Amino acid sequence: MKKIVALFLAVLMLTTAFAAMAEETRTLVMATNASFPPYEFYNDNGEIVGIDAEIAGAIAAYLGYGFQIDDMDFGAIINAVDSGKADFGLAGMTVTEERLEQVDFSDSYATGVQVVIVKEDSTITTVDDIFADGIIVGVQESTTGDIYITDDFDAAGLPADNVQRYPNGNEAVLALSTGKIDCVVIDNEPAKAYVAANPGLKILETEYVIEDYAACFKKGNEELLEQFNAALKALTEDGTIPAIIEKYIPSDVEDAAE
Ligand code: GLN
Repeated sequence: MKKIVALFLAVLMLTTAFAAMAEETRTLVMATNASFPPYEFYNDNGEIVGIDAEIAGAIAAYLGYGFQIDDMDFGAIINAVDSGKADFGLAGMTVTEERLEQVDFSDSYATGVQVVIVKEDSTITTVDDIFADGIIVGVQESTTGDIYITDDFDAAGLPADNVQRYPNGNEAVLALSTGKIDCVVIDNEPAKAYVAANPGLKILETEYVIEDYAACFKKGNEELLEQFNAALKALTEDGTIPAIIEKYIPSDVEDAAE
């Protein structure tokens, strides 16, 4: 009998120890598409860095969790979160009604603007020009740029084939540079980074759509969502998050460009 009690106690102690270890080392997994500078991209050391990567790292540290980033196609992020493969998605992701049916969103931490990238000598000079017959628009698959352009082309009676979808912004911009498409619709900050890195391109001054970025969570995962929002608020108020944003999007450069 004593032996059984001892065995039982040993098992109980081990279980408790393992539970405590699991608790201590809980790692938050962030799903993203690391081809979206300055929000998430690979630096020269092969690490994923950027505004989202650093904000999430700061939030995980604030909450006492470990932190890991999983890079995937943008269109796979919501599924990864929904299936529990990732704890949240942070990817310059716009809050939309449709996405709200699949996931919950945190408070917003940034604003995005859909803009149009063209070649410097393009005949496209305003957003309206992309609805001219025969214009081929490149988008990142499953992003709001894809959704809006697809809808607007459909409404305008333009052929569906005139919207070309790419797995990320890099490939869309490459297709533009090599003359396969006439323009790329993408968020403004990555657009600036791509134009800076690829000579011969420019961003149209007219903006297409303005939107809010937030982190997405599995529906009903309120505990983590609330912790995330509380950390987001605290780290915004103490200046941590503004400093991260300033590091990647310096306001003096912004002002000079305007
Ligand atoms: N903001 C856009 C969206 O949510 C694009 C995001 C991205 O490509 N990472 O669809």
